[in-house]
Order: sequence, then C-alpha cells, then structure tokens
Amino acid sequence: MKRSKKPNYKLRRNIAKILLVMIVLLPIFIINRVKILNAPLYISNLKYSKIIDTLFSINYTKDEIKDTINYLKNNKKINDKTNDYIIELDDKGYNKTTIDYVLRNLKSSQITEFLSKKYNKDYEEYIKNDLFKYSKFDRYLNYQKNNKNLSIDEIVYRIELNLDKEYYEDSVIVKNPNDITVLTNKYLEIPEDYEPDDLVDMSDDYANNSYGQKQLRKEAYDKFVEMCDASRKDGVNFYAESAYRSYDYQKIIYDNYVYENGKEKADKFAAKPGFSEHELGLAIDLANIWTITTKGEEYAWLSKNAYKYGYIFRYKEEWEDITGYAAESWHIRYVGVETATKVHKKGMSYEEYYIKYIANKKN
Ligand SMILES: [Zn+2]
Repeated sequence: MKRSKKPNYKLRRNIAKILLVMIVLLPIFIINRVKILNAPLYISNLKYSKIIDTLFSINYTKDEIKDTINYLKNNKKINDKTNDYIIELDDKGYNKTTIDYVLRNLKSSQITEFLSKKYNKDYEEYIKNDLFKYSKFDRYLNYQKNNKNLSIDEIVYRIELNLDKEYYEDSVIVKNPNDITVLTNKYLEIPEDYEPDDLVDMSDDYANNSYGQKQLRKEAYDKFVEMCDASRKDGVNFYAESAYRSYDYQKIIYDNYVYENGKEKADKFAAKPGFSEHELGLAIDLANIWTITTKGEEYAWLSKNAYKYGYIFRYKEEWEDITGYAAESWHIRYVGVETATKVHKKGMSYEEYYIKYIANKKN
C-alpha cells in the first residue's frame, strides 16, 4: 500500500497547543524559579513587615526558609532571636499569621512563654481574632474550659466584656455617659453624679404619670413619640410605665428588692444604683395596662419596627448569660436610628455589638 502524503494535522495542532501553553507558562515558571533561587536577596529587599508574609507565601521548602532566615540574619535584617523564634514557631507547626502576630506583638518573655505551650490549633484561631489580646490569654483558656460549647469568637468577646468576672467586680466607670450609644451593665458603671442635662417631661399621652412625672432625654423622647404614633396607627398601643431614674431613686428600688428577695436573686432582675440604663434617660419600661410580654401584639410590633425609631430590646432570653439579666420583654433602650438599625440587622445583644463595633471601631 502507498503511504499517504497527507500531513497529520491533528498531531500538528497538538504540538502547536503544547508550544502555546509553554510560551505562556514558561515565563511564570522562570520568574518563580528565580524568586526561589534568589529568595534571600528578594526577601531582604522587602520591609520587615512584608518579610514574614512573603517567607511563608511562596512555596519554599523548609530548607529554603532556613537558608533565607540565615541570610537575613547575616545581613542584619533580623536578629538572632527573631531567627530562632521563626524557626521554632514554624517547627511547632504554627501558620504565618500566628508567627507574624507573635513576632510583632509579643515581648521576648511572652514569646518564650508562648513557645513553652504545646501546639494548639485553637491558639491560631485566638490570635486571628480582632479582639485578641495576649495579656488575656489565660482568661480565654480558663473560660473555654468552663464553657466548652462556645466558639473562640464568643469566648474572646465575652472576656472583652469581663464576663468571666463576678457581677460588679472590678467594674469600670464609663467615660461617655452622655453618649447616645453608651453601654452600661454589671461591669460598666455610670458616674454617680451623672445626670442628663436634656431631660424632658413626658406627656400623659405617652407615659403613666399617675405616680410621678416621667422623664426621658429629649432625642429619645421625640423618637418615642414618633414610634407610639406609628404603632397606634397600626392599632397597637403601649406607653412608658417607667423611664428616667436618678441614682438615688434606683438605690431605693434596688435596696427594696434586696430586702425582699435577697441580694443574689435581686441581682438577676434589678440593677444596682450606678448600673441601670434607666439612669441614662435612654431606657423605657413599657406597658399596655399590663406589662408587655413576648406573646403580645405590642412585642411583635416592636420587634419589627422599634429599630426604625432608634430603639432596641436589651434583655432577651437567649442573651441572659451575656447581659446578666433575666429576660425583660418590656424594657427598650434608645441608641439612635443608625446604631439600632445595625444592631437589628446583626441580631446581636447590644453587649456583643458594642464591644465589636463601637468600642473597637470597625464597620
Ligand atoms: Zn427597665
């Protein structure tokens, strides 16, 4: 049989394809290879902050990392100690985020202490957390031991709120009692002499004034009126049964509860003077003849709409171990429309929201 002279197009096409792929990939391959071969030089030209990052982001082998670190050390880019720390941390199995954090934030003595701990995957989770503070490490671990069901994130923000401490123990006096968004609870105290300077009397239309004139801060009151008017249009009615309380008045209430129930029980539902949101002039206890309950139409309406007027619920059943209070379906707090909207969207307790997004300003 005669051989076919017909050229093999299929083969040619495949060769062309391979060549094309090589032309595209070769430079990438060469650049990477050069980077790896010249790793010490390449890295030593970077600022320190980028060194660790780069060191662990290109796929160096362990030996290449060690060579590079040695080179950096010899050229005084990093000192002997740092060199040893990087190698030890890496040997222990810590990832670059952890190594980076440790080198940047920890004192020598703390690094030594950290290295004395057995490798723990949780530590990497802790260190990654925005609110992580090395000084609180032992508190996190203790709290975790007693609260195994919580995530690392929950542990870190709860420690930030001092929830591992006893109520009123080491409480801190807030610096901004006049701020609409201020947080007060059993760990954050309102200065004893604080009295809002913009309290206004509430009208009988919106408050039960039959045993004492009710007051609220002006902005909170204006929004409360708006909210009540809107709810009444929807056929839902409620009014303020309690609003602003002075330190002295809160003291009378608290002492009375303690007298009747004992301190431990009273602390579950009543605030010690200096620790009640009512002293801010931004909190209201609602009623519609009887106290508002979670089953009523008032609660349903407020759950859907209160944030539009700057109000949030503070004490829900699922937050009891965070707020330190038994659920209060009648207690609402004014924080301003913008903040209330964000809190509502996140579905968080105000404690969690405050510590993550206000005290540690991120968006
Ligand atoms: Zn209340």
